This record gives sequence, structure tokens and C-alpha cells, in this order.
Amino acid sequence: MANNNSYKNGGVKTKSISSSSSFSFSGGYKSKPSSVNSGPRRNSTGSGSNSAGGFHKDTPSSGVSGRVRVAVRLRPRNNEELSTDADFADCVELQPELKRLKLLRNNWDSDTFEFDEVLTEFASQKRVYEVVAKPVVESVLDGYNGTVMAYGQTGTGKTYTLGRLGDEDTSARGIMVRAMEDIFAEISPEIDSISVSYLQLYMETIQDLLDPTNDNLSIMEDPKSGDITLPGASLIEIRDQTSFIELLRLGEAHRFAANTKLNTESSRSHAILMVHVKRSVKEKDSVITNENGNSKSHMNRTMKPPVVRKGKLIVVDLAGSERIDKSGSEGHTLEEAKSINLSLSALGKCINALAENSSHVPVRDSKLTRLLRDSFGGTARTSLVITIGPSPRHRGETSSTIMFGQRAMKVENMLKIKEEFDYKSLARKLDVQVESLIAEHERQQKAYRDEIKRISMEAKKQVTDAEKSYADCLEKERLKYKKDCMESIKKLEAQLAVNQIKDDSLHKAPNRELIEVKKLLQNETLLRKTAEEEVKNLQNQVTQYKRSEVAGNAEIAKLRTMLDNEVHQREKLEEEISMLQNQLLQISFDADETRKQIESGDHSVDMTGDMGSLVSPIRHPQIKYSGEQEKGPVAKLFEQVGLQKILSLLEAEDPDVRIHAVKVIANLAAEATNQEKIVEAGGLTSLLSLLTTSEDENIHRVAAGAIANLAMNESNQELIMSQGGISLLAITAENADDPQTLRMVAGAIANLCGNDKLQLMLRAEGGIKALLGMVRCRHPDVLAQVARGIANFAKCESRASTQGIKSGKSLLIEDGALPWIVKNANNEASPIRRHIELALCHMAQHEVNAKDMITGGALWELVRISRDCSREDIKILARRTLSSSPSFQVELKHLRLNSS
Ligand code: ADP
Ligand code: MG
Repeated sequence: MANNNSYKNGGVKTKSISSSSSFSFSGGYKSKPSSVNSGPRRNSTGSGSNSAGGFHKDTPSSGVSGRVRVAVRLRPRNNEELSTDADFADCVELQPELKRLKLLRNNWDSDTFEFDEVLTEFASQKRVYEVVAKPVVESVLDGYNGTVMAYGQTGTGKTYTLGRLGDEDTSARGIMVRAMEDIFAEISPEIDSISVSYLQLYMETIQDLLDPTNDNLSIMEDPKSGDITLPGASLIEIRDQTSFIELLRLGEAHRFAANTKLNTESSRSHAILMVHVKRSVKEKDSVITNENGNSKSHMNRTMKPPVVRKGKLIVVDLAGSERIDKSGSEGHTLEEAKSINLSLSALGKCINALAENSSHVPVRDSKLTRLLRDSFGGTARTSLVITIGPSPRHRGETSSTIMFGQRAMKVENMLKIKEEFDYKSLARKLDVQVESLIAEHERQQKAYRDEIKRISMEAKKQVTDAEKSYADCLEKERLKYKKDCMESIKKLEAQLAVNQIKDDSLHKAPNRELIEVKKLLQNETLLRKTAEEEVKNLQNQVTQYKRSEVAGNAEIAKLRTMLDNEVHQREKLEEEISMLQNQLLQISFDADETRKQIESGDHSVDMTGDMGSLVSPIRHPQIKYSGEQEKGPVAKLFEQVGLQKILSLLEAEDPDVRIHAVKVIANLAAEATNQEKIVEAGGLTSLLSLLTTSEDENIHRVAAGAIANLAMNESNQELIMSQGGISLLAITAENADDPQTLRMVAGAIANLCGNDKLQLMLRAEGGIKALLGMVRCRHPDVLAQVARGIANFAKCESRASTQGIKSGKSLLIEDGALPWIVKNANNEASPIRRHIELALCHMAQHEVNAKDMITGGALWELVRISRDCSREDIKILARRTLSSSPSFQVELKHLRLNSS
């Protein structure tokens, strides 16, 4: 057996014993029970286990587990012993603090034994319960089977230890009573159940102490679980301690009666109390495991049936252990004696087998061992109390009892918790729940229907009340209004009466007034209607306007764009106009100047007055000079003498006459109205011929002035040309020394230069050369006329080129005018400078002239003009000209590159 090794014959043991009992004992000391099993399912420290037997103790406080717990209790000396054995010492000596017991063989020899507990004659019942039974009871409450047994010689106190009820003295209560007290304290009476059987085993017959009619109960063993049951035995469910005490009392009474009947003693029988404890387990306490070893506490909680733990506590008050054969004197046969003690000796044999780890445990040999199979040899924990007496006279029995205890201490076992699912109770519980839920549902439905009924009744009542109060109110209001109405009618009737009286007093007058007012009203109504229609119309119009406004806006936007364009265009045109106006202003200013000069020239032919501003033909040379009073004689002369006469005087012998006649003609020619008459009368031809026929330079000068005036007219210009006027004027210029003469000739040619049709002829007849010839006279007036002529010519030429009439380079360049032009382009006299600048601009507009102008130095002058010219229009013209000519651009770039 497992614990063999843990029991050693140490030095304490003074002498080995050799007992005659059937138990073989190799006992000894062990310093302390060291093998502690911490869990109910584990074996102890033993090297093996026996599935069939052994007790062990598993409460944490005990410190001992895995085997039968054995305590020894010594009964105090009784009266008899006190007197009889007064001179003898006790056969045992207890060392409770060492848990040892010395069995004295004689005065000098003893054997020492160790037990789990050594209880002296002074040990209280309470203490005995606590060390012997309480751990077993706790274990039963945890769902194990447990057994508490008392073994010992008759009269050593087994019944005292186990079965005392403690009626008179509560401290005397024995293990059965205290165990039940603890059980009741622990369980929940509402859900747990306790049921009890109480049996007696005598001569291998089991009697029911709670029902004596059951006098031969059979033992059933569940082949699967190994559970032992006694189907015929009373199983009384008890609810409290009192009923338990009653049961014990009853059982005791029946035992006494049975023993009397059988003519035996209770010491020969075994009393067996079986307490079945069935407890519901809180889920967390459950240790039931499924096949995989996982805790079933994880099962679906709602469907999980309650777990019930079933524990069985068996308390066995064994028959006296004294050998029957020894006490054969009591009148039993040997067979009887054997039968009486069969169960007890079978128990001893089983314990022996278990203690020695034998392969065969003879459980089936007796009813007792069969009955205890699931509570001793199988799965229970067991406490054994062995009771001994102190008397040396019974040393043999005492020794035998001690050996029994020692053997039992070696019995180990595996515990098995008795826990199972109580499906039936779950089903019952669920049934109850379902039923109660159905009932509750029905109740609620009923309550619900009642409530609805009540509410609808209430609502109906409220509606009725409301309708009634509404009808009341309505009636009240109706009456009130009726009353008010009546009162109003009365008032109105009174008013009417008063009005009628008033009406009567006013008679017809008010009627007329009324008619008038009515008419007015009608008129007003008509007017209003008309006005309304008007408003409607206007509204329509507004709508239409609004519609057209949208379209109009688009139009406006378009027009605005156009307007902007126009404005832009206009601005451009205005710019041009202002430029032209400037030119015009300058021209008219120059013309005025010229006229003044001419006038002053006519007044004194010889004078060399300022004629520098002569830019236009002389128009009124005489008139201004002579004034209105002076005009009279000439006109008068003209009328009196006649033009023909005056013209004829040009060929008079007398040079004075001739000169005067020329002067008169010249004066007349200044007047535009006369010019035609003069030309018709052949005056122009006469004047031209005077240039060659006369030697007198004065005549030449005045005649040239007259021709110049006539040359203002376009048709006269053609006439002059056709009569060889250029040649004549050229010859005159060639021969003249007087600057005034040259000025007149130059003025005449300059006028001719302004005629587009006569360009080629004028040049062919030497007009340009004549002009250039006259520059020998450095008089600014002459130079101004030359410059004007050149400018006129350049302008016409440019126009012809632009129109495609002319091709090739400028005739002015061909005739060598360029050097003079360049030279005088920056002449300090503004009339000269101005005309030359214009001429240069005209010439420069034609690419064909560019090369000559560049080589001739005209480009520089143009650049200067474009930068410095005081006349803004000319400046702009020069700039435009420069920028539009590719040749000039190339040259300018080239020059800039060079200069940089
Ligand atoms: P058994 O059941 O073993 O035959 P009993 O319990 O009947 O023995 O005890 C025999 C007598 O001894 C009884 O009168 C009992 O009161 C008394 N007795 C037994 N044990 C004690 C004890 N520990 N203290 C006092 N009296 C005891
Ligand atoms: Mg007894």
C-alpha cells in the first residue's frame, strides 16, 4: 500500500509487537503525516492507489489527506474500574501533544503508536466531533461520500461518541447529532434536501430501524456508478434538527425492541445511520466536466439544468470488537458467533487488503463491507475513531483495537465527487416557469383588456361629457346672442323712428341732394373703373416694356460696343482734324503775312520790305494798300478807261505810262473778280510778254507780281504754262538782281508747282532749275518762295506717286534740289525751314527716294525733324515716314549699331 513507506519503525518505538490479530502490522513512527493531498481527485504521496478502497481527508485545514483518518479515544475509568483496578495503572499512556499512544505491556515495556488524533479521557464531545467527523461532514456537503465509524470493545464508548443525543446535557451530544446540526446549518432548506435511513446489521441481516417491518433489506449496487442503495429501506426526508432527533430516538427504540425480540445485545449488532444530502450547486462552484475535460460551467446558461451534488454520510456504530469465541459463554454457537462477527472481520480483512495494497479486496464477503463499498472502499473519505478503555485487564482487546486503527491509517483512496445534472428538476422547474409565465401572460392579457376597456369607457364618458358641456355652452351662447339681437333690433327700430322723424322734416331737399350725391357716386364709380382699366393697361405696358427692356438691354450693349468703336474712330479723326487745322491755321497765318507783304510791296515797288512770309498768291495787293478811299480811283479808272485801254497802255512809248499801267493791272489782278476779265482781255499774255519785251526790272517785278496773283487760279495756271510762262519767268529770274523781283518770280513758279497736272511740263521747261537758280540771292523772302515751290512740287509729286501716276525717283532729286534742301532744312527762318521740312517728309514717303536721301544726308534731317520740330504735325509725319520706310529703318539700325 502507498503509505507503507511513510511509516517507519523509528527509534521511538521501544519494541515491535507481534499481534495475534489477523492484521499484519509493520507499524512504527512517523514524525508527521507529511503526505498531503491538496485536491479531492489526486492521490496522496503514495506510490500507488487502490481503486477499491481507502479513506482520505481533504479539507485544507486537516493537513492529512488521501487516507483514512484514525483517532483513538480513551474512555475514562468507570466506577467499576475505579474500584477494581484501583491498584493497577492504566494499560495505555497518552501523549496527545505528540499524537502518540503508549501501550504498556508491563511496568518496564511498552509499544508506542502514532495516530491522527489522540483523544484523552478528558476530550470533550465537541472536540471529538471536530477532529473526527467534521471534516467528513464538510466533505459530504461538498458532494462526496463519507463514513465515520467507531470501532472498539464493547463498553469503550462507541455509542457514547457517536450516538449520544445530549437531551439533558447539550455538551454531551454525539457525532450524529452534531453532524446533522452542521448539515442543517450549511444547506438551504428550500432547495436542498436531507433524507435519512437508519439500519441495523445483525447476523448478516439488515433491519430497518425506522420501520421494523423491513427486517431483511437487500443491498443494490449500480453496476455503472457503483452506487449502493437499499431499495427497501425507509428514506425519511427531514427538514429540521428536531425531526432528526425524533428519528434517532425512534430508531433507538426499535433497536432496543428488536434486540429484545432477538434476545441479543446491541453490542452484537452494527447500527448504521445513512444521511443523504442533495444540494443544488451555484454554477461557479460546480466542477462537473465534460468529455473533453472542460468545465461545463461554460454551458449555455439558460439551458443548463441545475447541478446537484449528492453526498452520503454513513455513521457506523460497529458491534463490539471483542472476539465472540472468547465470550462464547454468552450462549451462542460458534457458527452464530462467526455470523455475528462476520461483517466486522470482513471489514478488518478489507482494511488489511487495502493497507497492504493487495490485488483482492474481499468486499463481497459481508453485508457491512458491501454496504460500505461506495463509502469506504470506493470513493469516500472516512474517519475512524477507535475507542479503548484504560483497564489493563482488557489489554489484549485494546491492543487489537490499536492494531486495527494502525492498519486503517494505511488505507488510501481516491475521492469522487457526486455531482450530476438534475435534468428532471430542470424540466420540472422549466415546466413550472412556463406554467407561471402562461399564467402571468394570461393575467397580463386580462389586465390589458381590462385596461383598454376601462380607458375606452373613460374616453366615451369624456366624449359624452364634452358633448354635453358643448351643447350647454352652445345653448347659452345662442340665448345670449338672441338676447343681444333683440336688443339691437329694438335699438335700430328706435333709431329708425328718430330718422323718419328727421326725414319728414327735411322733405324734398334731401331727396335732391341724394340724387345729386348718387349721380356723383355714379360718376366716381365710372371714373374709378376707367382708372382701373388704365392701371391695367399700364401694367400690361409695363410688362411689355420690361420684356422689351431685356431685348433692349442686349441691343444697348451692342450699340454701346458700336458706340465705343465710333468714339474711338472719332477720336482718331479728331486727332487728324486737329492736325489739319493746325496746318490750316499755319497756312492761313502765312497767307495773311504774305498778303501784308504784298500789300506793302505794291505800295512801294522799290522797297525791299519783309516778304518772307509769302506763301500764297497775292490776292488783294492794291486794295489793302490804298484803302476804300484809294480804291475808288482805280475802280473808277477801270470803269472809265476800260480794261482794254489800260492793257494797251502797257505798250505805250512812255516808260512811266507803261509802269503805271502794269501797276494798275497788278492791282486789279489782286482782285479775284477781276482776274477773269484780265485774262479774257488778254492781260495775262501782255504781262508775260512784258517780261521779255521790257528791259525795265521794275516792270519785270510788277508784272511778275501780277502773274503770280493770276497764277493762283488753276485755269490761269494752265494758261500761263501753255504760253511758255515758265520759260519767261525762268529768263526773268536769271536776269534779275532785285530780290523783290526774284521773290515775285519765285512766288509765281511756286504757285504753279502746286498744280498736279503741270508737274512734268513745269519740270521739263526748267521750272525747278529756275527755282534753284534763284537761291543765289540769299534773301530769305526769295528763299522762302523757293522753299514753298519745292514743298508744293514735292507734295504733288508724292500724291502722283501714291496714285500710281508717277514712278521713279523724285524729279526734285533728279534736278539736283536735294543738296539745297538738306542744307536749308534747318534754316533759321521758320517759313523756309517749315516748307523744306514738309518737302522732305513728302519725298521720304517713297521708298524709291530713300537711297538718295540717305546718301544726301536727308535722313539725318528727317531724324532731327522727328525729334525737334516745333510743329507737332510735321514731327508726327516725319516719325511715321521714318518708321514706314524699310530702308530708313535698316539704315537707322545700322547707324545705332555703329554709334553704340
Ligand atoms: P459501547 O457503545 O462501546 O459499548 P458505551 O458507549 O455504551 O460503550 O459506553 C459504556 C459506558 O461508558 C456508558 O455508560 C457510557 O456512558 C460510559 N462512557 C463511555 N465513554 C465515556 C466517556 N468518554 N466519558 C464518560 N463516560 C463514558
Ligand atoms: Mg454501544
